[in-house]
Amino acid sequence: MYSLLLALLLSADVTPQMQATMDHISAQSLRGHLSFIASDLLEGRATPSRGLDLAAEYIAAQFRRAGLEPVGDDGYFQTATLIQREPNWDGFEMTVTGGGKTIRIDKSEAYLLPAAALNLRDVPVIVADQNTPAEQTRGKVVFVANWRGRGSFDQASLVIASSGNIPTGPQVRDPEAGVGRGAISLVNKPELAAFLKDNPDARLSVHMAASIDRPVKVHNVAGLLRGSDPELSDTYVLLTAHYDHLGTRATGDDKIFNGANDDGSGTVSVVEIASAIAALKEHPKRSVLFMTFFGEERGLVGSRYYGRHPIVPLDKTVADLNLEQIGRTDASDGAQIGTASITGFDFSELPGILADAGQIVGVKVYKNEEASDAYFGRSDNQALADVGIPAHTLCVAFDYPDYHKVSDHWEKVDYANMAKVDRAIALALLHVASDAPPPKWNESNPKAKKYVDAAKKLHP
Ligand SMILES: [Zn+2]
Repeated sequence: MYSLLLALLLSADVTPQMQATMDHISAQSLRGHLSFIASDLLEGRATPSRGLDLAAEYIAAQFRRAGLEPVGDDGYFQTATLIQREPNWDGFEMTVTGGGKTIRIDKSEAYLLPAAALNLRDVPVIVADQNTPAEQTRGKVVFVANWRGRGSFDQASLVIASSGNIPTGPQVRDPEAGVGRGAISLVNKPELAAFLKDNPDARLSVHMAASIDRPVKVHNVAGLLRGSDPELSDTYVLLTAHYDHLGTRATGDDKIFNGANDDGSGTVSVVEIASAIAALKEHPKRSVLFMTFFGEERGLVGSRYYGRHPIVPLDKTVADLNLEQIGRTDASDGAQIGTASITGFDFSELPGILADAGQIVGVKVYKNEEASDAYFGRSDNQALADVGIPAHTLCVAFDYPDYHKVSDHWEKVDYANMAKVDRAIALALLHVASDAPPPKWNESNPKAKKYVDAAKKLHP
């Protein structure tokens, strides 16, 4: 009885505009989009890559279909120029010698990108793992049995790994910001594990020419839905997600990181919600900027670029809702069906708006005690928050079995659940884009202090 009464009460609040938006969002449509975005053809959408560009073109086509305004410098594209580092194999030589034996490493086994020429003769090899303190590996030649990411090895002069997901994609940096992780030099040589065990005093020699830096163009994809109110239409709400992923790896049967949930799910949700809201007879009062970022996996490069090159004025941007990993319900901390959480849950009023919208469609929007604050800086909302705009990431599964694995496939996504979550997001977006007052940062939360300060600078 109670739930029926509640449903009746809530349904009274559902305007025809909200109903039309909810009706437009379909699981089938999301599935169709994601089966392309996460397909092998796109080769894991590394920044930069042809696969990333194919994804950008697809997103632009969907924005065009929805009738969004192209507001980039090149249609829907906002073009950034990054510096891509490529290896120079002229005169390359690498050997490891121990116990009277020498192992030669071929260039096909090396992913070396030294800024300056790398010339080492008979240097020791430090055996390390993910827990080795960074001070012990700085400037050293390091051997890791199982490569699981940069972690402690960021400052090593050379890393040799015998297994793991060795990245093969190009290395990029943003010349304007210096953001984007620096190049790391890696070698994939499985037999070295046993060799170094037998010969702990083995020495390495390497000659490698300096890498070649080339400019490369990448794109944020942005489409604007112009607001219907003469005054409020020059204020803006952002709905964002990153469309890049990790690219490919050197070894294994499956070499492609498809990134279906991370963050194909957020990307196709931006597309689907854009098409639902653009189809309304009357647009929301505020303008809505729908955008997908490049380079999140390289260290929030695309959103940082946007923060420095805003398409719409930052001081007129009232909120950014960023979407991450909203398709998988099989989270490591338990099934997430009909639930979603938001990072920085007590940082601003935006999460509360989402929670209210969630109630209408039956999605419980909650504070994930472990992840809420810890993950706030781990996605593209951070770039907008840093300039003072209330910006959060909505996430269904922070961690799930295929996170950053080649097995993050589109078939594993729960599309009915994702459609439901997207309906909650769309309703929250309609609310923020109405004449409701813009969400504010929480001044009483010390963790939000730097954002409160940034907001005061943005709105003097
Ligand atoms: Zn992500």
